[in-house]
Amino acid sequence: MGRKLLIDYGNPDREALLEAARSIATGGIVVFPTETVYGIGANAYDDAACSRIFSIKGRPQDNPLIVHVSSMEMLGEVALIDRKWIQRLSRFWPGPLTVVARSTGKVSTVARTGLPTVAVRFPSSPVARALIELAGVPIAAPSANLSTRPSITDPVHALEEFSERVEYVIVSGKSPLGIESTVIDLTSPTIRLLRAGSTPVEEIEKVFGPVEVTDTARGVATEERPVSPGAKYLHYSPETPLYLVTEDQMMSLGQNPGFSDYVFICSAQVGEAITNRKIVLGSESDLSAVASRLFSALRDLDSMNARGGFIHLFPEHGIGLAVGNRIRKASRPPTGEILAALDRP
Ligand code: AMP
Ligand code: MG
Repeated sequence: MGRKLLIDYGNPDREALLEAARSIATGGIVVFPTETVYGIGANAYDDAACSRIFSIKGRPQDNPLIVHVSSMEMLGEVALIDRKWIQRLSRFWPGPLTVVARSTGKVSTVARTGLPTVAVRFPSSPVARALIELAGVPIAAPSANLSTRPSITDPVHALEEFSERVEYVIVSGKSPLGIESTVIDLTSPTIRLLRAGSTPVEEIEKVFGPVEVTDTARGVATEERPVSPGAKYLHYSPETPLYLVTEDQMMSLGQNPGFSDYVFICSAQVGEAITNRKIVLGSESDLSAVASRLFSALRDLDSMNARGGFIHLFPEHGIGLAVGNRIRKASRPPTGEILAALDRP
């Protein structure tokens, strides 16, 4: 059903994009590239179109959508943000930072899931910006993946998952950053991190002052009542069971012939010790490279006919905080025969 549009990421053909933009303006759904991951977008002012996003993704009804704008004027249409924050935001925008602020009431209550707040960001992706400008309305867009599945950073996966479900899929190469935006809450007295993401907390603190980082944002606590609805659900999971182990455990299992039907997702450093099948994400000292490959590695795991996968954590500074969050949420602790093999290597 959907049409595929090939668009140059850095220099988008506006004529070609116009079709997709018109579709958005008239209630259509478009999968498009952002600098973080692929998004699935609808007119943020249109209740029915926003509802379609929830049903296509199978997204829980209480997990609100991020609204994407292409100018500070458009920001003013959707959110009420103090002048002092606007100046600071302009240090990060356009870019992968989302802020939760008071809604003007214009954005669909479906996209906001009835909340008095709205999550908004100004993306740097030239394609996303041109699409929003041409549509003439803000675009509500969560990550383009079926609910609980890993986000999509490779257009091949976007076509597989969405061609038959949406009006247009815009294909523009791999997502440059590979991890979703950082979400902060500007409505509380202290700024809170709701989701770790592509903008490092350290950079936000330099401009906004101290940011409260909860265990939820690290992906550790799932029991406690989440501040951001997205925090409470199973997330980013491959279909193949993925086990979280330490680097030492991985090096031991990675050389064990009894685990040759597993895939080891690891750093370049750990990978050197692994003789079983592996996917190397990048050097421990190049966390941006690791971030950009993580989601496609989780999807590749599913195409490798493996009994299971193993993954380990990376240093949790800079974008590494978001990498750790995604890895924890995508994985589970090792069980039975794996623990037994670790006991008797
Ligand atoms: P995604 O589906 O990957 O685009 O994630 C969107 C994220 O933004 C989720 O974690 C949502 O819970 C969060 N979010 C969106 N709107 C709000 C809001 N009004 N208040 C708090 N979190 C929000
Ligand atoms: Mg998502």
